[in-house]
Amino acid sequence: MSRLSVVLPAYNEELMVEKACSVLKETLSAAGISYELVVVDDGSADSTWDRIVKAGERDSNVLGVHFSRNFGKEAAVYAGLAQASGDVVAVMDCDLQHPPETLIEMFHLWEQGYEVIEGVKSSRGKESILHKKSAGLFYGIMTKATKVDMQNASDFKMMDRKAVDSILSMPERNMFFRATSSWVGFRSTAVEFEVREREAGESKWSGWSLIKYAFTNIVAFTTVPLQFVTIIGGTCFGCSLILIIYSLLQFFRGHAVEGYTTTLIVLLLIGSAIMVSLGIIGYYIAKIYEEVKRRPRYIVSKIVRGNKDVYDEAHQDKV
Ligand code: UDP
Ligand code: MG
Repeated sequence: MSRLSVVLPAYNEELMVEKACSVLKETLSAAGISYELVVVDDGSADSTWDRIVKAGERDSNVLGVHFSRNFGKEAAVYAGLAQASGDVVAVMDCDLQHPPETLIEMFHLWEQGYEVIEGVKSSRGKESILHKKSAGLFYGIMTKATKVDMQNASDFKMMDRKAVDSILSMPERNMFFRATSSWVGFRSTAVEFEVREREAGESKWSGWSLIKYAFTNIVAFTTVPLQFVTIIGGTCFGCSLILIIYSLLQFFRGHAVEGYTTTLIVLLLIGSAIMVSLGIIGYYIAKIYEEVKRRPRYIVSKIVRGNKDVYDEAHQDKV
């Protein structure tokens, strides 16, 4: 019988993680699906790990992975995919904002032969207008970059072993999971789901971390910002041609171009264009530097299956 692995990244989720495990256990057993829950503790500062161990004592299908520090959600998802042993793997948040019943719908689609099943938000839940607008802008850019409609994309998905293995074989350290799952191709479909309110705990995203997330992922997926540099350069060149012709004409007519202000404006414009361009190029260089260092994506400090320590057998070759 085919087995489903559910990857659950958890960061400071002491209030939700046990509940998520028990709800999933109930839902999946009721549907008669053989499962495994891969809960990745992303270096939580609270008692999340103890809760995962407790959940493992109650359900031997729980595999707990503990990071040595916080490496971020993308790393946690990747670690979960690497540890998952099922024939089909789902990824969902452990705050139950992604409805567990949708998993069953996805599982049936997988049985029908779909290899990548994307969860698509039917609405974005409760968010401030500013958040909605900036998310809209970010996903607009990502949609252009990936040529896949990202507007309502989420990290809630189910993937066949083949798709999981192809994601795991990608060498880059900076991965945008949400887009990569559609980038790999395969026979895909989408399932709509309603984003639930978070029951307990709080969202881990602050305004600043969202901005950083957006920049990192745009740079990870597209080089369009580098073309902006060329565009800025071209525009400056066009303007300077006009100005050169104008100043020469004035010169031969016997008047000089009015002095200081014009010089200042031109200098400032060119100066800032160069600075912005250097900034964009610099950001790409920083990312290249991070990639060539070939550091591991994450460091695992503990792995338990049920209530058994399986670090030594599970950890090999899975970093
Ligand atoms: N998460 C994580 N590492 C982080 C931040 C978040 O593993 O550094 C997990 C978190 O525990 C949750 C999921 O990612 O399971 C989504 O986080 P959250 O609910 O805070 O995001 P939101 O639903 O508000 O977008
Ligand atoms: Mg959430």
